[in-house]
Amino acid sequence: MIVLITGPSGAGKSTFVGALMADDPRLAFSISTTTRPMREGEVNGREYDFVDEEKFQQLISEGAFVEWARVHKNLYGTRHSRLAEMAAVGKIPLLDIDVQGGVDVIDIYDETELVSVFLFPPSWDELERRLRSRATDAEEVITTRLKNARTEVGYAGRYKYWVVNDDLDQAVVRMKAILLAESCRSNVQGKSPLD
Ligand code: ADP
Ligand code: 5GP
Repeated sequence: MIVLITGPSGAGKSTFVGALMADDPRLAFSISTTTRPMREGEVNGREYDFVDEEKFQQLISEGAFVEWARVHKNLYGTRHSRLAEMAAVGKIPLLDIDVQGGVDVIDIYDETELVSVFLFPPSWDELERRLRSRATDAEEVITTRLKNARTEVGYAGRYKYWVVNDDLDQAVVRMKAILLAESCRSNVQGKSPLD
């Protein structure tokens, strides 16, 4: 199983993914590769594999990525090798990627192996409030992200599940219900107790 979480910037993906991972030890965060400069407190190989543009282009030409995209001026991609590492230790990869990259992942994987989730903020006003509450972005960046969000929600219909991140705890409860239902699917279990 692969779990894919996406949604507009400010919907609360990082917060939601953090809460979910703290709750479910089967999940392992999929570490993406990026050309974005490292932020204070980040560690190479923990939040991301940080590379320069040249290295990223080389990885593209080697076919190293499951998907990659330019998001807010930087390149981001999910590497086959990172997913393989997680599968090898029996973990469920959890991808927190942008909406377009998510659609690429949906196009690649079979519906039976992928749990795709579009995370919504409860309203446009709340999305704007959350983007401002981070206080890390300039006004121009916030305006661009709100504009992008209008396009991104147009892809929500491609995702299997919709979760509204109104109250964080409630959103996590909904996500746990999704994962529980997915793990009970006959084609995921394979063998019945009576086989
Ligand atoms: P994203 O990763 O989607 O860009 P973040 O996780 O950074 O979003 O969240 C954006 C802001 O919204 C942060 O200030 C975060 O604390 C806040 N936030 C996230 N989820 C909720 C929630 N359920 N209720 C209120 N605020 C939230
Ligand atoms: P940030 O730079 O704030 O960590 O992330 C910016 C955006 O890039 C977020 O929307 C995040 O979901 C997205 N992102 C992170 N990793 C990947 C990835 O591997 N592929 C794609 N397509 N988007 C990613």
